Amino acid sequence: SIGLLASAAWAQEVPDLDTPAVPKEKHDYQSDVARLRKIVINRLEDVFIRELISNANDALEKLRLTALKDSSYHYGADGLNITIKAVKNSDGPGGKLIIADTGIGMSPEELTTNLGTLAKSGTSDFLARAESSDATGQGNLIGAFGLGFYSSFLVADRVYVASVPPKSPKDPNPTQYVFSSSADDSSFETYPDPRGNTLGRGTEITLVLKEDAADYLDPKNIMDLVSKHSSFSSTFPIYLFTER
Ligand code: ADP
Ligand code: MG
Repeated sequence: SIGLLASAAWAQEVPDLDTPAVPKEKHDYQSDVARLRKIVINRLEDVFIRELISNANDALEKLRLTALKDSSYHYGADGLNITIKAVKNSDGPGGKLIIADTGIGMSPEELTTNLGTLAKSGTSDFLARAESSDATGQGNLIGAFGLGFYSSFLVADRVYVASVPPKSPKDPNPTQYVFSSSADDSSFETYPDPRGNTLGRGTEITLVLKEDAADYLDPKNIMDLVSKHSSFSSTFPIYLFTER
């Protein structure tokens, strides 16, 4: 059990922690503490790749299950996959990491509600329902708790999500839309993708990496992270593209 002690009175007594009467002493961390801090911060950052791949996996699973039930959806024999591209800036350090899937995609409205609100029960609910009502629908629910899409901002200054749902009889020519948000924005933007429908179907997450996150462009690091965090969860092939 936990006791609550005069919380209001206590809160008022919290002193100013930042203005001592004497000058502050400045210390450097001992070098291995500095290294440890860096490792902890990096390990935390690393989860973004697991979250984005698990979202891609969910979206692919969602399309697979939808196509099982509705024959108007076709995805082709080898049409369900995840691709990762590392693109270094040509004019300086840093670059972009682009993670795309050929899954169920999002309509403009879904981009706004799924990525702009915290009521993000869509995929999990869908998979849970699919599991209970359909024996073949072995949904792929990964851990009850995750940082989710927003973990992108651990490594990215700006994130673009381009997405387009599959063609359907109801919408034979869906428009690819973009969700764009910067790490320090309290708002996001949505607009039709100026490139047109480049995906055909699915979602492409473009992470404009923070300056200190350029390590994530190294193919070896990406491979390590993907196998460490995602091999257990992804039932679909993951392809890594790097520049030559
Ligand atoms: P969760 O996966 O737990 O629902 P996330 O923050 O990871 O939470 O994602 C929020 C929602 O955004 C998902 O439920 C899904 O509806 C949508 N979403 C995220 N990534 C994708 C994607 N690659 N394809 C389709 N929908 C996606
Ligand atoms: Mg998720």
